[in-house]
Amino acid sequence: MRVKPKKHLGQHFLNDPNIASKIINSLTYANYLKVLEIGPGMGVLTEFLLQKNIETFVSEIDTESIEYLLIHYPQLKNHIVGDFLKLDIPSLFNQSLAIIGNFPYNISSQIIFKILENKSLIPEMVGMFQKEVAERIVAAKGNKIYGILSVLTQAYYKTEYLFTVHEHVFIPPPKVKSAVIRLTRYRDTIEGIDNNLFIRIVKAGFNQRRKTLRNALKSLAIPEYLSNHNYLSLRAEQLSVDDFIKLTEMWRQK
Ligand code: SAH
Repeated sequence: MRVKPKKHLGQHFLNDPNIASKIINSLTYANYLKVLEIGPGMGVLTEFLLQKNIETFVSEIDTESIEYLLIHYPQLKNHIVGDFLKLDIPSLFNQSLAIIGNFPYNISSQIIFKILENKSLIPEMVGMFQKEVAERIVAAKGNKIYGILSVLTQAYYKTEYLFTVHEHVFIPPPKVKSAVIRLTRYRDTIEGIDNNLFIRIVKAGFNQRRKTLRNALKSLAIPEYLSNHNYLSLRAEQLSVDDFIKLTEMWRQK
């Protein structure tokens, strides 16, 4: 029995054990005792993960895949959880865990936002995304694709583009190329600023990325004393992560 790929679940099964092993070997296995794989499918990555000396959990939404996994990897019993987007991570895991996976591409951004929401428990992530999303996450200021995902991720994690993966190693092949990236947390909070305000400023700024920040941030009620600041005559994509942090810092001071 093999799992029949279902499009609406973003199922593209990796068919190359060398790439699977390379992905699993891209985690450092330092600073955490557990790993959660998102979307194991038929377990091409899981098989290598289970050879590592680390407690492994998998999050899978497809009942056919779960059946397959339990037959082939009986040691996963009691280690399978459901829909990643619905998991209450702090109540399932009271200790740090790493996240890994060849992710379902239809929910890539939601996976990143969920990791960011739970960053205090997640020191590291290695994941395969569609190449374009991977590039957005690691993009620097001045790049056309630099945006919300880049700034919010890089504010807390070092981001590394590890390698590109071609369509033909998947069944069925996706329409786009893929890429594996690694996130390594260097802080879980930015000291001295309101982290929620920081997130709101970044989102509002890029949601109207063609406008200057003076216009894009209007809905956040820009403090009067900031109204002539140079940052506000720029567009969001012209600010570095540190610039956004400085802007948030100034916003607070009365
Ligand atoms: N890791 C496997 C499968 C990748 S395809 C491989 O490399 O071959 C993506 C997988 O994510 C599918 O198995 C799909 O069922 C699963 N998936 C889709 N949405 C999910 C969700 N919300 N939570 C957990 N898994 C999900």
